[in-house]
Amino acid sequence: MIVADRLTKFYGERPAIQDLSFTIEKGQVVGLLGLNGAGKSTALRILSCLLLPTSGRVTIDGDDVVTRAHEIRRRVGYLPEVPPLYPEMTVQGYLTFVARLKGLSAKSAAERVAEVLGAMSIADVAADPIGTLSLGYRQRVGLAQAIVHRPALLILDEPILGLDPVQIVDMRQRIRALRGEHTILISSHILSEISQTCDRIFVLHQGKIVAQGTEDELSARFASQARVVVEARMSEAELTKAVGTVAGATVRSTKAGAEGTVEVVVESERDVREELSRAIVGAGGGLMCLRPAEVELESIFVKLTRAREAA
Ligand code: ATP
Repeated sequence: MIVADRLTKFYGERPAIQDLSFTIEKGQVVGLLGLNGAGKSTALRILSCLLLPTSGRVTIDGDDVVTRAHEIRRRVGYLPEVPPLYPEMTVQGYLTFVARLKGLSAKSAAERVAEVLGAMSIADVAADPIGTLSLGYRQRVGLAQAIVHRPALLILDEPILGLDPVQIVDMRQRIRALRGEHTILISSHILSEISQTCDRIFVLHQGKIVAQGTEDELSARFASQARVVVEARMSEAELTKAVGTVAGATVRSTKAGAEGTVEVVVESERDVREELSRAIVGAGGGLMCLRPAEVELESIFVKLTRAREAA
C-alpha cells in the first residue's frame, strides 16, 4: 500500500525526517511512535499530499504522492493533530461538504454522511454547530471527515491527544472497529495506544526509523536482560539475601505482595529461575510465584532513544 524510499524533508537547514524507507502492506494497522519533534507529523503530511518531500519518493497503491497528488487525496483520509473543522458549520453540513470535496455525488454523500453519523455516534448532534461541541465529539467529527469517502488509507496524527480517559477508550475502540476497512497509519507518543491498536510499530527518533517490528519482536530484540518477578512468604531482608546467593542476580525493585508476602523484580543476564527457586526454598521461604516480567514497550523505547543519543 505504501512504499517509501529514502524520504527526506528539510525545513531550511534542518532535516525533520531523513532517509525514511519502509513498506506497509494493505490492511495493516501501523503505529508511528516517536517523541515530540521526532518527525511524525512531517512524514504523515507528506503521505497525505499536504507537503512535498525534499528528496526521496513515496508511492501509495503504486501512485507517486508528488506527481499523482490529486488522485491520491481522494483515496487518503487524514485526521491531523488539530481536526480541520469549521466551527460555524453544522456537523451534517460539514461532513456533506467534505464528502463532496472528495468527489462523492450528492446522493452518495448523503448516504455516506448518514452512515458515518451513525458509526461515530454523532447523529444526535448532526444539526449542531461544530463550535458548540465538546472535545470528544469534535474528535469524532474529525474521524468522521477522514473516513467519509471510504479511503483505502487512513492517516491519524495523534488521534487521542488531549482526550480524557473515557474518551481515549472510546476513540481506541472506534479506531479498532475500522480495522479491515482501511490500511491505517497512526502516530503517537503514547506507547500504550500504539501497542494496543497496531500490528506493527515504527519507532521514529530525530527523523530516522530506529526500530520496527511487532511489539513482541521489539521486546525480544531489546530485552537483553531477563527479568523475573518473585513473590515469597518471608521477610524482605531474607528474600533479598536469598536472591543475593544466586550468581549474577540483582533485586531491582521490592514491594509488599498480597497477604503479607514480598514481591521483588530480579534482573540477570541469564535465566536464573531454577536457582532462585532453590535459594528461596532453601532459605525457608514460601515461594508463592515466579514468573518472567513482561518487557514493556515503554522501557524499549527509552533504551532505543538513549542508545541513539549516546551514539
Ligand atoms: P509533534 O508530536 O511535537 O508534532 P512530530 O514527531 O510530529 O512532533 P514534526 O512536527 O514532524 O514532529 O517536527 C519535526 C521537526 O521539524 C521538529 O524539530 C519541528 O520543530 C520541525 N518543524 C516541523 N514543522 C516545521 C515547519 N513548518 N518549519 C520549520 N520547522 C518545522
